[in-house]
Amino acid sequence: MGSKIMNFIADLFGFRKNSAYIARHNTDANVSSSIYMTTVTILIEIWMIIRYIKRYVLDAGEPADFVTVMKYTRNFWILLILALAVLIYALCYKMGKIRSRILTDIVMIIFAGSCVGFGMYVSHLDFASGKMVTCFLTMSLYVACLLIWKPYVSMLILGTMFFGYACYLNHYTFTEEGIQVTMRSGDWVNYVTFLIALAMVAISIYHQRLSEARKSEELERAAIEDDLTGVPNQYYFSRQCEELMKDWSTNPAKKIYLFLNIENFKTYNDQLGYEKGNEFLKHIAGRFAEIFSDAIFARQSDDHFIALVDAERKDEYISKADAEIGGGHSEIYLSLKVGGYRPLSREEAPLICCDRARYACGLIKNQYGKTYREYDKALGESFHLRQYVVNHIDQAVAEGYIQVYYQPVVFSKDGKVCGCEALARWIDPKHGFLSPGKFIPVLEECKQIHKLDSYIYETVCRDMHLSIERDEPVVPVSMNFSRLDFELMDVVKLMSDLVERYDIPKDMLHIEVTESTLSENQEKLQADLARFRELGFALWLDDFGSGYSSLNVLKDYKFDVLKVDMVFLHNLKENESAQHILSCIIEMADKLGMQTLTEGIETDFDAEFLTKIGCGRLQGYYYAKPMPYAALQDKIATGELKVTLEDMT
Ligand code: C2E
Ligand code: MG
Ligand code: MG
Repeated sequence: MGSKIMNFIADLFGFRKNSAYIARHNTDANVSSSIYMTTVTILIEIWMIIRYIKRYVLDAGEPADFVTVMKYTRNFWILLILALAVLIYALCYKMGKIRSRILTDIVMIIFAGSCVGFGMYVSHLDFASGKMVTCFLTMSLYVACLLIWKPYVSMLILGTMFFGYACYLNHYTFTEEGIQVTMRSGDWVNYVTFLIALAMVAISIYHQRLSEARKSEELERAAIEDDLTGVPNQYYFSRQCEELMKDWSTNPAKKIYLFLNIENFKTYNDQLGYEKGNEFLKHIAGRFAEIFSDAIFARQSDDHFIALVDAERKDEYISKADAEIGGGHSEIYLSLKVGGYRPLSREEAPLICCDRARYACGLIKNQYGKTYREYDKALGESFHLRQYVVNHIDQAVAEGYIQVYYQPVVFSKDGKVCGCEALARWIDPKHGFLSPGKFIPVLEECKQIHKLDSYIYETVCRDMHLSIERDEPVVPVSMNFSRLDFELMDVVKLMSDLVERYDIPKDMLHIEVTESTLSENQEKLQADLARFRELGFALWLDDFGSGYSSLNVLKDYKFDVLKVDMVFLHNLKENESAQHILSCIIEMADKLGMQTLTEGIETDFDAEFLTKIGCGRLQGYYYAKPMPYAALQDKIATGELKVTLEDMT
């Protein structure tokens, strides 16, 4: 109870220290008020000067020279010049040319003091001639209600001013005849009542402005703070970096942007749940905020953090942050990956710099023991290509820069073509021939892959439709599906619409998904695969053996064809272990009721060995490279490629 009362008193009289934001808000409000006050003061003083010159100089027949005019209007001029100076100061402050709060507060105090001083001077003269101290009261009202002071300061100033002035008046005011003038008791009552009313108005205005300031502080905080972790967000980061870089004392060459990524955090989320994942992120964000407390730091998104630090201390920051992540503190193995980018000039936009640091960071993904990669000139080129890909995918699709190449797949027993794989190529007017490695990962990262893939699927259907119409031999085509295709569009509907529109038997199209696509347990993806199967599309498991979860995937999903990755074919002749593994994979697939295909066949040995161990289908440069549809049809027509007559589906 006691502390409640103390708190109430502390709040009421403004004894609590205000945040820097509120203090700044109050100073800003005082400066705005001073603009109105000075403008009104300037107008009143001009009017007073004109009035006095007319009455005491012109009408009184006095000489209109400088000395005479000044004799009657000196005080008005002083106030006018002072108000003008404060007005100019306030306008400079508003335009952002002055930011010092202390200087501004001093200027406001001098101005307020001068106004009240003027009021006291005029009222003293009025009081001596038996009039009320109206000018003093008006000026006090002006100063106490327009400029904001903390309540206890207002009360202190007003109390001292009012009682001090009243004492002065009662002791040092004499009429022209030398008779001392004192305040009558009735005037005293009015005088004190005015003081109390004024103090109350000042206090209430203070609280009203304080609550406004708190509200906008909250809004401002929400705009600059990351919702989940409470550390600064990207917006705030950019603003801070821009300000720092604008400052001429900052040498951009001595700064470096860091992009921090917690590797394997997805697994943490998957295995321990989102709640725990969020808790971990909050904890790490707090620890990072301490580590980067003397730098600019923010959470960008997910498990990504960004910082602008002194380049010479970069290693120190990284090793501290790394110790937080990789120190075995968490139940799941996590590691820190950091990308760095040194800004080339102070004008470079912070977000672009972060993007480059992120790009460098992405290049050490999954590289055990490697924590840091810096963006350099060599990376610059591939980074630009990446930007180009993201910015031009729509145009590439619309203008036909994207083409479908077909790579034949053959039956191992007779080498006859039993199908094709559709592979994307980007033939760009500026960058020339681009292989999928250059654009597929970028489009996946930027969630644009569905634009390319839907175009590829439609082109395949159109090509096949034309061949059917022309009565040419047609082979089934397998198409690559990215994990994001399932997320970004309704692939099942898209494919059903396409086969209907182009009148293509569903068993002529095969859906290839890689094992890495399936390593993340997604309900939507599982459901979509089941829908594909129900509709009659065959499902192929691509790149088997290239990832970490191959066997797991086989346990949980059903596929028609298993495509064995080409990693096993490297130096196959010399590598007996690889030969054993391949034999086992083929045998296992057989037991699981799946057909087999091995990709990347390049040599006689590869072909013979895989045929011997019973792999049903083969694909690789040994038979044919990927080629445009026209070339494929040509090779079939000329007999260079022989198409099997067996059921190829
Ligand atoms: P993938 O689906 O495993 O395709 C097989 C890749 O192996 C192709 O590379 C093909 O050209 C290459 N290849 C075939 N035979 C041989 C060989 O004998 N030796 C060697 N060294 N390589 C061979 P490509 O066309 O560069 O495609 C790379 C990957 O890009 C594909 O791997 C696939 O994951 C992805 N991709 C290609 N086109 C598309 C597409 O339209 N959509 C999606 N989402 N991904 C695609
Ligand atoms: Mg494939
Ligand atoms: Mg493959």
